[in-house]
Amino acid sequence: MRRNAEELDKMRKAGRVVAEIHEATRAVIRPGVSTAEIDRVARGVLDKRGAGSNFLNYHGFPAVVCTSPNAMIVHGIPSETVILEEGDIISVDCGAIIEGYHGDAAYTVGVGEVSKEATRLMEVTEQSLFAGIDQLRPGNRLHEVGRAVQEVAEAAGFSVVREYVGHAIGTAMHEEPQVPNYWPGSGGPTLKTGMVFAVEPMVNAGGAGTVQLDDGWSVVTADGRLSAHFEHTIAVTDDGPEVFTVL
Ligand code: MG
Ligand code: MG
Repeated sequence: MRRNAEELDKMRKAGRVVAEIHEATRAVIRPGVSTAEIDRVARGVLDKRGAGSNFLNYHGFPAVVCTSPNAMIVHGIPSETVILEEGDIISVDCGAIIEGYHGDAAYTVGVGEVSKEATRLMEVTEQSLFAGIDQLRPGNRLHEVGRAVQEVAEAAGFSVVREYVGHAIGTAMHEEPQVPNYWPGSGGPTLKTGMVFAVEPMVNAGGAGTVQLDDGWSVVTADGRLSAHFEHTIAVTDDGPEVFTVL
């Protein structure tokens, strides 16, 4: 789906709200803080900006952010009883709706001092995201995104999650087509100006395997090793990729 200038402007606004949530939640992440507090801070930003949440009540999801610590890959439910500790890493994924248009983005950050491996995992995952974003140009094939992500992650000795992928985004958070974070064996759709995607590599320090927990949401690494997740919402433009989820 190609979005016109008016639609892109609404998505730009939604993206900025998501970026504000990132800034506000990063500011409270420290040892001793619960993941429920991250959700409260995010709700505060959505309220202040008059934005809707595309996470709350999504298939029954009970919060406006996903908070996924350490070996949790994605979809963690914020909780008063999950308390961040020195040395943890935490992935925060959230979205916003402005005038019916969606933004979606995620980051992973260390809690206090973290291990060298954790630092490298977060750096490489974010680098892989930007390598993927750089492929979002008119005339390119969509699956070049995943090829670029995979190349960066695997060159660093890490692995890319297969079961959860990025997506087109617009008047719904999850639109077709999907955006794999690996080369799926074919080029996929040809990119055109006005298309908007959420690119979101999940990179594991160990193997790529995933396990879903009994809460029906939380997804963890099969081998118990760390996982990081970075995401932006990006438009394909004639001048190259435009990242919406930034301030
Ligand atoms: Mg997301
Ligand atoms: Mg997403």
